[in-house]
Amino acid sequence: MQNTQQPVVDIWQATCKILREKMHEASYNQWIKVIVPIELKNEDLTLGVSDSFFGDWLITNFGEMITESLKNVTGKELKLNIEIGHNPVVDEEELAINYSIEDDELTLVDIKDEKKAIVKEEKPISIEERSARINCLSRHSFENFVVGEENRYAFAAASTAAKSPGVYNPLYIYGGTGLGKTHLMQAVALEISNNNPNAKILYITCEALLNRYVDAIRQGKHAEFRNEFRNVDVLLVDDVHQLSNKFRLQEEFFNMFNTLYNESKQIILTSDKEPSEITGLEERLISRFESGVTTQIIYPGFETRLAILKAKQEDHLVKLSEDVLQFIAQRISASVRRLEGALLRLVAYSSMMSDCPISLEKAEDLLVNLLEKEAANRAISIERIQKYVADYFEISVNDILSVKRPKNIAEPRMVAMYLARRLTEHSYPEIGEAFRKNHATVMHAEKKVGKKCTDDEVFMRTISMIERQLQQKNAQ
Ligand code: ADP
Ligand code: MG
Repeated sequence: MQNTQQPVVDIWQATCKILREKMHEASYNQWIKVIVPIELKNEDLTLGVSDSFFGDWLITNFGEMITESLKNVTGKELKLNIEIGHNPVVDEEELAINYSIEDDELTLVDIKDEKKAIVKEEKPISIEERSARINCLSRHSFENFVVGEENRYAFAAASTAAKSPGVYNPLYIYGGTGLGKTHLMQAVALEISNNNPNAKILYITCEALLNRYVDAIRQGKHAEFRNEFRNVDVLLVDDVHQLSNKFRLQEEFFNMFNTLYNESKQIILTSDKEPSEITGLEERLISRFESGVTTQIIYPGFETRLAILKAKQEDHLVKLSEDVLQFIAQRISASVRRLEGALLRLVAYSSMMSDCPISLEKAEDLLVNLLEKEAANRAISIERIQKYVADYFEISVNDILSVKRPKNIAEPRMVAMYLARRLTEHSYPEIGEAFRKNHATVMHAEKKVGKKCTDDEVFMRTISMIERQLQQKNAQ
């Protein structure tokens, strides 16, 4: 295979040797070992790192040392570029394993370069890229998934899909961002490919699917596009809510879905909403999506958040105190992704400071911008009120947004408007717009619900209970 990448790998390895001697071991492991060398073009060296926080810190704190060491190796002053989205390569042994499966029939599950869904590799990819992909995949395993009350059913459904593909078909996992949908979906892919290395598994985000579709049409390769997608054993499509209003793609997807479904090929979909709540989605797709197993992941409560932090901490050399872990779990609740970010930030700081323990004050200081984001998230949104009220009265958000007039729909709609006035800072016209109605309707609803609360004690209790629950849910 290849290797246009070889020089960059060699240069980087030689540079690492020098850096290793210059640095504290923990810092080396934390900051250098995890870098993926990507490309050397003229005087520009591109290094891959996980995220922009890491990249900024790396350049600020170690940029000079890296450039100097590179100069020792190459004799040249190279310019450093950072590319984010690359996960750490653990060690050389793993590199070798990943390299050896290069020619294997195992179908690549494309994680990083989501522009291309890959069923069969068209051109060889570098060891580093392969390694980063497999590494990312193996991180998203069932073993690394912390199970709590909030994701128990989704986890169980995903495990079944992995053990007996085609039984739960399709499996539809939905929930807010950063709660583990992609993780679970990729865990299924990983387990199926472990059990059956010949399985053709295709993972693609809906956005990448759209790009591929548009490219295929533009290049007159519609038939190839169809074949590629219809020849898989397992199809994983991430974030299908993005099909919204893309009717030509929906048509294509509908046919693709039917072909695979009829052959009992496992289909897994994720989304931030239930099928019926995706606006601009054809009825027939909604009913296909609902025809299998639909499972939700909800926001993890404190216990699960703490368990996740403890599990993630195992990956790091630096350990934080119980107090600090509890502090993070208490204060950060918007997503698991953000929890991970907070943990990484503290661990990174601690290892920079030669493993000095982090106090609560320091933790608060270091996490200040994440904590601000949390505060902003806590502000209750109209959307959340609509969803909560719809769930409570067992109707859909679409019903709330509709013009339907039966009492079992009209009353919850008015309640949601009333609560939007009480719990948010939005004006009448803003609330009206969020409900696809005019401001006068909101004023009317506010009055009517207010009056009913004074007249009907049972009703009043119900409303205040919903209000309390919404506030509590937000504060968790
Ligand atoms: P989503 O697809 O729902 O937006 P992801 O699956 O990308 O979220 O998850 C975001 C991050 O949080 C990932 O790094 C994932 O590994 C991690 N994560 C989410 N839920 C869990 C969990 N229950 N246990 C361990 N890690 C989790
Ligand atoms: Mg996702």
